[in-house]
Amino acid sequence: MSQPQKKHFTAVHRRTLLKGGSAALLFGVWNLAWGSNIVAVRIWPAADYTRVTIESARPLQTTQRMVQSPPRLAVDIQGLQLDSTLRDLVAKVRPDDPNIADIRVGQFTPDVVRLVIDLKQPIRPEVFSLKPVAAYQNRLVFDLYPVNPPDPLAQLIASVSGPAGSSPTTVASAPAAPRSSVPFTPKTVPSENRDALGDLIAQQIERANGNPEPTGPATASRPPITARSRPTAPLAPPAVASRTRRLIIVAVDAGHGGEDPGATGPGGTHEKDVTLAIAFKLRDLINRSSVNGDPMRCFLTRDGDYFVPLAQRVEKARRVHADLFMSIHADSAPGGNATGTSVYALSERGASSTTASWLAKSENDSDLIGGVNLADRGTAIQRTLLDMSTTAQIKDSLIFGRAMLGSIKTIGPLRKAQVERANFAVLRDPDVPSILVETAFINNPVEEVKLRSPSFQSEMAQAMMDGILKYFAAHPPLARSGQI
Ligand SMILES: [Zn+2]
Repeated sequence: MSQPQKKHFTAVHRRTLLKGGSAALLFGVWNLAWGSNIVAVRIWPAADYTRVTIESARPLQTTQRMVQSPPRLAVDIQGLQLDSTLRDLVAKVRPDDPNIADIRVGQFTPDVVRLVIDLKQPIRPEVFSLKPVAAYQNRLVFDLYPVNPPDPLAQLIASVSGPAGSSPTTVASAPAAPRSSVPFTPKTVPSENRDALGDLIAQQIERANGNPEPTGPATASRPPITARSRPTAPLAPPAVASRTRRLIIVAVDAGHGGEDPGATGPGGTHEKDVTLAIAFKLRDLINRSSVNGDPMRCFLTRDGDYFVPLAQRVEKARRVHADLFMSIHADSAPGGNATGTSVYALSERGASSTTASWLAKSENDSDLIGGVNLADRGTAIQRTLLDMSTTAQIKDSLIFGRAMLGSIKTIGPLRKAQVERANFAVLRDPDVPSILVETAFINNPVEEVKLRSPSFQSEMAQAMMDGILKYFAAHPPLARSGQI
């Protein structure tokens, strides 16, 4: 039996001894004050990090410490009595949780509950509180980040080993022409235009297959988290005749996740679930496709039911040097009668309509509802970096958005025939054409049924794929620089 459990039983025993007369009355008051405080407990396991949330009627005070061997986080929660809701946390640990092995809870002292989270690997914990927001009361959050976190590039490689190589959907595009707005650094590009990222991925796949032979120049290293450097001098266009070896990466962002369910339909369907279902289908289509002979790969900013802050979604896509970024959502509007798909691009100054402005605010609230640690300086720095969006990015995003509208209108009604614009945090990558697609209205009962249906999800994913290919046909990706 663990130490906290022992303490718990000691406390119960003492209470039993004291039962009767005024002691019973005393404990009745105690239970009223502390016993019903916990509202819910939740665990969101993911390779990126596992989150444990304790939701309570009143804010909780904690002290915690990490113990390294074996790795575990011990947390004391003050002014709390162990109840069945809190005890439920133990049963909520999933065997496949990448980070948590086990959780133990016990009444450590009469007014302190001790929680011990046994970990599967060394963890960097972030413990913070969130004030009541949306449907949530006070939340105490434990974000358990692996000390050695998964690299988005490694995740991309893992996704490559699936459907890649099967019969591709191809698009023949016009020869690559440089966009003056997106120059690139020439210093490590030899006579042939190399894709250092593609080379690295190819090498890692070879290695994973047991072949140690390198397949190309090994110049790549893990990309930095900082903003991509903006070259100062434009480069002469690459020779049109030279073959551009290129891995084309599309970042697909399933909106919401984990603590943030997004909009919810009258039948209880959560936006976060339908966006992920469509994203998985789109990923499979992208991974089977190519542009002008160059293979395409999808990078998912999340591949499970967990929350990813908006800035991190953008950051992850930058880490893999995505050529396009597409965020998938489902709309909601008062009345429940609205129908159709709409596509959005970034606007830094004002929105194209009141609806667009309202929607951007609502989508940006994802961070509030999902819950970000405001003390995390890294996130604040990322936000500053991502405020540097360019007019070129917006121009390309509008072109991408129009291509997307053109293909989506073949499968259903559009809410708006033009690309709408508003200040969506998730579209703020200064370099990558980025759009947000509101697939349908989840709070319209008819559209909610559609969104749940695998056939509609496939149809929508196929229309998105067509939109992506249409964009690339007119705007083929540039050669990458040797840097990744
Ligand atoms: Zn959304």
